[in-house]
Amino acid sequence: MCVLALAVAVGACGTNNDNKSSSSGGSSSGGATSGTVGLLLPESKTTRYEAFDHPLFQAKLKELCAGCKLLYANAAQDATQQQSQADSMLTQGVKVLVLDAVDGKAAQAIVNKAKSQNVPVVSYDRLASGPVDYYVSFDNMRVGQLQGQALLKALGPNPKAGPIVMINGAPTDPNAAQFKKGAHSVLDGKVNIAKEFDTPDWTPDKAQTEAQAAITALGKDKITGFYSANDGMAGGISAAIQQAGFAKFPPLTGQDAELAGIQRIVAGQQTMTVYKAIKPEAEAAAAMAYALVQGKDYPQATDSVNNGSTDVKSQLLTPVEVTKDNIKDTVVADGFYKISDICTKQYAAACKKNGLQ
Ligand code: BGC
Repeated sequence: MCVLALAVAVGACGTNNDNKSSSSGGSSSGGATSGTVGLLLPESKTTRYEAFDHPLFQAKLKELCAGCKLLYANAAQDATQQQSQADSMLTQGVKVLVLDAVDGKAAQAIVNKAKSQNVPVVSYDRLASGPVDYYVSFDNMRVGQLQGQALLKALGPNPKAGPIVMINGAPTDPNAAQFKKGAHSVLDGKVNIAKEFDTPDWTPDKAQTEAQAAITALGKDKITGFYSANDGMAGGISAAIQQAGFAKFPPLTGQDAELAGIQRIVAGQQTMTVYKAIKPEAEAAAAMAYALVQGKDYPQATDSVNNGSTDVKSQLLTPVEVTKDNIKDTVVADGFYKISDICTKQYAAACKKNGLQ
């Protein structure tokens, strides 16, 4: 157990899997003055969760309710672990659970148990099955379409000239199915998809192994492009491409606008990423949680998404494509990164060439 004050909690307790609690004390800024909220995130190999989702959620909750307490846990891609983290939070008396499920279907057990104890559940980013109260995410089909369109464009005038390889996310993540569906809706019939993988746990190392297997089977330099569902896996795929020694770096997609992904784009080793502004997503989740702590409605959830059990009141945000041409106008303009974050010594020359200074 790692207990930290709100102001210093970020990252310091990063990757261990114990529940972490942080309490601000202090007085309230109106509405309910206290209440414990549980935040459950799914993994830490993708950098967004510890670098953005957790701290941004925590900061917004503190702003809305200075006397509220946050219990936090990261499941490190283990659905069973997430179940016990949720159980522990329920035992500790959380008033609301905010859940980014490792496994959307298995998480129904978490949702059911919470609801049986009158604890409402917010599905965060990934929609869990069961009687979920609110959902906040991005338009995930659109994410896949943006990736597919960018790959198609990068393949040039004859996209059927060679085979492409598709490396999708985890089959247990409902978002991965949406990304895949969106990408297929653009690519099917227009390109030759020679190999396709669903990658357990979204693990970058597994994506690298999948890419290596595809390269061995299809032949180096024969493959004209790689679809990667996110930047973490694109890191593994890009390592496989470099190891194989392609004459020209093939088009490669991504998602999350991870710093390493943006740097690969600058260096010409990745074609695009998808920027999903995590601040409004995390802040909406904190506002949903706070509304539920107070027993109030959250009026901005004007969308509705069916999770197989029920229509869940939802707020869906818009994803944005990032290429080397709009890094400044997107992630930099939004304050997600400073140019100095991206343009470290190693990338200085490439940054200059791309007008990033
Ligand atoms: C998220 C992505 C993330 C992936 C792997 C998805 O559910 O929407 O942003 O890259 O999970 O954690």
